[in-house]
Amino acid sequence: MPLVVQKFGGTSVSDADRIRAVADHVVRTRRNGHQVVAVVSAMGKTTDDLLRLAGDVSHVQPPRELDMLLTAGERVSMALLVMALADQGVDAVSFTGSQAGIITDNTHTKAKIIEVRGDRLRQALAEGRVPVVAGFQGVSTDRDVTTLGRGGSDTTAVALAATMGAEVCEIYTDVSGVFTADPRIVPWAKRIGKVSFEEMLDVSASGGRVLALRSVEFARNHHVPLHVRSSFTWEPGTWVVEEDPSMEEAVVTAVTHDTSEAKVTLTGVPDKPGIAARIFRALADRHVNVDTIVQNVSVHGTTDISFTVPRDDLAPSLEVTRGLLPEIGASEVLADSDIAKVSLVGAGMRTHPGVSATMFETLAEQGVNIEMISTSAIRISCVVRADRVEDAVRALHDAFELGS
Ligand code: ASP
Ligand code: MG
Repeated sequence: MPLVVQKFGGTSVSDADRIRAVADHVVRTRRNGHQVVAVVSAMGKTTDDLLRLAGDVSHVQPPRELDMLLTAGERVSMALLVMALADQGVDAVSFTGSQAGIITDNTHTKAKIIEVRGDRLRQALAEGRVPVVAGFQGVSTDRDVTTLGRGGSDTTAVALAATMGAEVCEIYTDVSGVFTADPRIVPWAKRIGKVSFEEMLDVSASGGRVLALRSVEFARNHHVPLHVRSSFTWEPGTWVVEEDPSMEEAVVTAVTHDTSEAKVTLTGVPDKPGIAARIFRALADRHVNVDTIVQNVSVHGTTDISFTVPRDDLAPSLEVTRGLLPEIGASEVLADSDIAKVSLVGAGMRTHPGVSATMFETLAEQGVNIEMISTSAIRISCVVRADRVEDAVRALHDAFELGS
C-alpha cells in the first residue's frame, strides 16, 4: 500500500474541532487505500505562548530547557490526535521525535537532523496502526531533547517521508497552497499549481512563509514531492516537484517579502584582506544566519559593510561585531530594525534579461528607495524601508502581471 506522510500545522490542530477534522481526513485517506504517517505541530499559537511564558519567568533561558519546554507543545497535539482517531475506531499510536528515531546534532533550538531511524513507525504500520509523530523535535547524540528551529515540523515530515519511502509528503496549513504573493497583501494573487524545488527554495528563503526552508532543502536532496494544501477546504494545492525541462518557465513565479530581518552596518572598516573573514567567521560561530551582505567601495582605505540577519539574531550580532571593533580597527556598529526585503523569484530569469531593470523601475515609480540589492540565478532581492514593503509587493505583482 502506498504511504503518505501528512503534516498538520498549528492552525490545522488549533482546537478540538480542527483535531477531529484532521482525524476524519486521516480516516478518509486510509479508506482511499493509503497508509498514513501523521506529523503534528503544536496547537495554534502554543509555541509563541510558551516562549512568552519563558520570557516572563526569566531573562536567562538555557537552550536545553527551552527545547524541553517547546517540545511539550507538539506532545499535546499528538496525543489528542491519537484520541480523536481512537474515537473513530482507528488504532493509532503517538511517538515523540526521540521515539520516532529522529537523531540530531547537539545545537539546541536549531538542531540539524543527522539520522532518521523510524523503526517503531515501520512496526506500527506493519501492525495496521497509524503512527502520529510530534513534529519539530528530535533527540541529540548526547541524548537530550532538541528542537529543529521555528517551523521545524515541516522538516520532520519531509525527513520521515524520505526515510519511509512515502510517495508524497502533504503539508496541511491554513492557506490553500503557495501564492504568487502573500494574499493578505495582494488579494488578487493566484495559487501556483506546480513549482520546482529550486524556485520553492528561493521563495522560502526570501520570506514565503508557507514552507520552512530546511524542509524544502531536505525534500530536494531526497527527491520527496511535496503537496502544500489547506486543512480547511482539503482541495488540491501546490505541488513542489523536480524541475521539468519540458515545462515553459515563467520569468517571474512569485513576489515574496520578509519583514523578519534587521540590518547591521559596520563603519570605518579597514579595507584589507582578512577583515570580512574575521567578522563573518565570528558571526557563524554564534550560529547567526547572515543573509544579504553589501560592502562599499573604499574611500581613504576604509569602507562600510552592511548585512542583514534574522531580527532574533540581532542582539548576538551586535555583541559579536561590537566586540570585534578594537581588534579590526573599525569605527562603529549601527543597527536598523525598520527594514524589509522584497524579492522576485522565477526560474525563467536565468534566460530573460531585463527583470532587474523592470523591478528597479517599478520601485522607482512608487518612490521606494532601494537600500541593498542581492541576486541569485533565479532571484532578485531589494532591501527597502519596512513601511513601504507592502506597496512594493503590490506594484511588482502588477508589473509582472502575476494576478488573475
Ligand atoms: N511549533 C513549532 C513552531 O511554531 C514548529 C512548527 O510549527 O513547525 O515553530
Ligand atoms: Mg508552524
